[in-house]
Amino acid sequence: MSALWLDPPSAVHTDDILAPFAMTADQSRGRQHPEEPHSFRGLYQRDRERIIHSAAFRRLLGKTQVLVAGVNDHHRTRLTHTLEVAQIARCLARALRVNEDLCEAIALSHDLGHPPFGHAGEAALDECLADHGGFEHNLHALRIVDELEEPYADHPGLNLSWEVREAMAHHSPRRDDEAVRELRSAGSPLIEAQLVDAADSLAYDTHDLDDALGSGLLTLDDLRGVGFWQQAAGRVRAKLGDPSRDAFRFAVVRTLIDWQVTDLLEQTRARLEERRIQTLADVRQADEPLVAAGPTVRALKAELEAFLFERVYRHPRVLRLTTKGRRFLQALFAELSRMPELLPMRYRRRVGPGGRADGGARRVVGDYLAGMTDRFAQGEYVRLFSPAMD
Ligand code: MG
Repeated sequence: MSALWLDPPSAVHTDDILAPFAMTADQSRGRQHPEEPHSFRGLYQRDRERIIHSAAFRRLLGKTQVLVAGVNDHHRTRLTHTLEVAQIARCLARALRVNEDLCEAIALSHDLGHPPFGHAGEAALDECLADHGGFEHNLHALRIVDELEEPYADHPGLNLSWEVREAMAHHSPRRDDEAVRELRSAGSPLIEAQLVDAADSLAYDTHDLDDALGSGLLTLDDLRGVGFWQQAAGRVRAKLGDPSRDAFRFAVVRTLIDWQVTDLLEQTRARLEERRIQTLADVRQADEPLVAAGPTVRALKAELEAFLFERVYRHPRVLRLTTKGRRFLQALFAELSRMPELLPMRYRRRVGPGGRADGGARRVVGDYLAGMTDRFAQGEYVRLFSPAMD
């Protein structure tokens, strides 16, 4: 008899050790276009790998998280934010024995639909497309994975599993949009999706604070009134005494993440037990979130978020960059909608009869702009409007 590790690789092994309320591949609603199962890669593993190999994923590198990509080389971009979220979500999934592969696929795809220039870019496109259904990044992520990515000859899109697409639909505030209705029909979100939401929020609160300190938008003195920071700083001082400025900052950031992850795990375990969540059906029927921080962390986090909103997201340097980004997108949208012949061929083909476009030229222009990195949008603006000839 051979040892287990000498068996032929099988996708089933990991499902065997999951909690009964975890999602498993054999309970999946599957893919839009049926496929043969792979001999050793599981359903959600394949999703994860498709996402990583997509063009939209690579472009996250050049998209703003808070600071416009390219301001310096060490602050977060959407790509590094996404990797932090995936890492935290996987850690949570493993500790709770839910599906780590699914969690990772949801995390890696959660920001795919963001246009350049962060939320300012999203607001600009929503305005531009107001008469054509608007623009919302989760709905756009669905368009990307179902329609715009084209790695296969026989169908559009990445053909991701229903559950990864469902997580995008649950995340969209446009609950009644036709694109999400079917994907919201299975009941409450999976624990794997809820974990990614929680990981996203704890990752950005913490790293936005870190980036704001690292890029000089904030000083340590500015944080005197922020309870979350001060309490974490107290823990660091009790342990490390008086470390150097940078070591202190890194240690407080680390403490904040560890504190939130630990709290989330304890609170979630308690909720699962209290509500007697024993099966996937119980998760689907739960009328409140099962993954949530405790009251102390929730209050500290809310205070931190109010502070970040006022002092970082509305900092003059951030506003100046995002306002410019917004203006680039509005100008590009107006010019390309007026003259879709200026679009690259791949997009031009989608305009008008024969193409796969469903919302006319404006939607195609929106797709083109939403796919751009910050730098490409800036370059395209210069190419279209600079008096110098190209
Ligand atoms: Mg995010």
